[in-house]
Amino acid sequence: MPVGRATLFRLATSTRFERTVRAVAPAERHAWRAASRYVAGITLADAWQVANWLHAKGIDASVDQFGELVTDAATAERVAADYVRLAVGLAQQPDGVWLSIDLSHLGLDVDRGRCADHFRAIADALPPGRRIQVGAEDHDRADAILDCVLAVAGDRNGLADRIGATVQANLHRSGDDLDHLVAAGVHVRLVKGAYVEPPERALPYGEPTDIAYLRLAHRLAQAGANFSLATHDGVLREALLAALGRRPVEQLLGVRPETLEDLVAGGVPVRVYVPYGAEWFRYWMRRVAESRGA
Ligand SMILES: Cc1cc2nc3c(=O)[nH]c(=O)nc-3n(C[C@H](O)[C@H](O)[C@H](O)COP(=O)(O)OP(=O)(O)OC[C@H]3O[C@@H](n4cnc5c(N)ncnc54)[C@H](O)[C@@H]3O)c2cc1C
Repeated sequence: MPVGRATLFRLATSTRFERTVRAVAPAERHAWRAASRYVAGITLADAWQVANWLHAKGIDASVDQFGELVTDAATAERVAADYVRLAVGLAQQPDGVWLSIDLSHLGLDVDRGRCADHFRAIADALPPGRRIQVGAEDHDRADAILDCVLAVAGDRNGLADRIGATVQANLHRSGDDLDHLVAAGVHVRLVKGAYVEPPERALPYGEPTDIAYLRLAHRLAQAGANFSLATHDGVLREALLAALGRRPVEQLLGVRPETLEDLVAGGVPVRVYVPYGAEWFRYWMRRVAESRGA
């Protein structure tokens, strides 16, 4: 019997499973061969190379250094310094290259105030016209992430035009979150939601989430928001493009790459999430879970 989405998702968040696989060299090599479809590579140079390759095809990129759930201040400081260097380095990259980050990688669980300071410093270091998109994590972190994004967006320096947030259509709270983000002028990346959450917090995967996605996309459009449709679901995407006109579409590296050129040829702005780094294992497991559907 094939392994289901929920089981794979649990494995994706299991440190013990990751350690077990990565401790055995042939198993790790096998995992990496499968994962490399979704990952630019281990180094930043690999990520820039993929971003430039996409740019040559008329596709924008958002580069993310893998990492999440940091539990000590020193690591958060190091990650923040890396990201400030990445932000400064964007000046040497094509205009459409942005950054992406999970705030738990920046020490959200260690010190929320300090995490916001780090995030502000990174946004501040971006060249004009670039953004850093914040990933959506599990429901328990949703309030802290929203607070951090809104705090930095609401700064006197006007950093809202440099940041983006991700809204998960499956969560019951997302309509309200989206209204706050739109009011603050933050770019919204609308996704279905990768985390398996209990029914009191989220809709199940499948039709209920798809309908919520459609409704939220219409709500964003009616509000005149700056947003993108981050989905590989062709039916959902085409229904929304037909109803709302050309809207930016985002995909993950290695997922349905064949659709990208069609979208570009049709004049749809396209952006691809380009992750890199040594911490690829959990990300890959989540993608495997998603590739199984329900
Ligand atoms: C740019 C971007 C950023 C994202 N950021 C976040 C985030 O911050 N937080 C979060 O919770 N989620 C995030 N996601 C993931 C998202 O929530 C979904 O879990 C994921 O995109 C799968 O949903 P879907 O909309 O593609 O639709 P689905 O219905 O799941 O997939 C549509 C079709 O795409 C194909 N497909 C989907 N995934 C895969 C795969 N891994 N391998 C092969 N084929 C596949 C399948 O053919 C499937 O039938 C992001 C997604 C994108 C595109």
